[in-house]
Amino acid sequence: MIIGKILKDEKTIRLNIDLNCTNCQKKVPGGIKTSEKYSKTGEFKKEIEVFKKNYLCGICRDKKRVKRS
Ligand SMILES: [Zn+2]
Repeated sequence: MIIGKILKDEKTIRLNIDLNCTNCQKKVPGGIKTSEKYSKTGEFKKEIEVFKKNYLCGICRDKKRVKRS
């Protein structure tokens, strides 16, 4: 998963964060990728928070997709 924008030739870093599915509460270790510069901004922290709040595990995401179609 990529958070924020990574410009061409920009240094990237990988971070491991613990995610909880917002539907079934299952814990999912997640690896995210972002630019080194962006990871130091408050904007990045905000984006992570929003991302966590909306996170669904693969199973719940599939269920949602089935329901929609
Ligand atoms: Zn789930």
